Amino acid sequence: MTVVAIDGPAASGKGTLARRIAAALGYVHLDTGKLYRAVGVAVLRNGGDPDDPVAATRAALALDLATLDDPELAGDAAAQAASRVSAIPAVRQALLQFQRDFATRPPGGAPGAVLDGRDIGTVVCPDADAKLFVVASMEVRAARRHKELLNRGETIIYARVLEDLQERDARDSARKVAPMKPAPDAVILDTSALDADAAFDAAMRAIGKRTGQTERPRGQ
Ligand code: C5P
Repeated sequence: MTVVAIDGPAASGKGTLARRIAAALGYVHLDTGKLYRAVGVAVLRNGGDPDDPVAATRAALALDLATLDDPELAGDAAAQAASRVSAIPAVRQALLQFQRDFATRPPGGAPGAVLDGRDIGTVVCPDADAKLFVVASMEVRAARRHKELLNRGETIIYARVLEDLQERDARDSARKVAPMKPAPDAVILDTSALDADAAFDAAMRAIGKRTGQTERPRGQ
């Protein structure tokens, strides 16, 4: 079983990379941010406050995995709520086993798993075979995220996106439990000046060095 851990801040490009890497290696992919987003959205729908540990923990324990495909999870309100519920230790605890099970027994009997998030290399899978920490400059990240939200049909100005990302970074890095930070053995990949193909090639090289895995030949 091969586990690839990909961490980094929002809009660093880690999600796109994780999906492509999983497809190239024939592994399954878990976007762990979606778990926190689903919990945040569930709290909001119940009329609760994402900072309320009781409401958030109840939502995390009752999480319905079928809601992970809800398009609302990609929105800005979901992201903000996610970053609030994710600072609550009992919420993280409630989601931990599911993530570890996904990594050690990937669905469908896949030979490996790629998990992306903030604490995969440090807390969820500290023994992962390869760890990447994907970063990009704040301007590049804000421009990417702004474009993504506009494509979703959200009306939001660039300055607001920038402020949201800065706020989320600060909260995600400063929290006491599982703060966002690179594992000591993670490879730092800066995608600021890389397009999607170049980022993918750099990531595959780093993973190949650690695991000996290379892209599956086409047609297999
Ligand atoms: O990656 P994404 O932007 O979807 O994550 C949304 C929020 O969920 C993050 O800002 C972070 O607060 C939280 N999160 C986390 N740990 C993870 C994944 C996401 O705390 N492994």
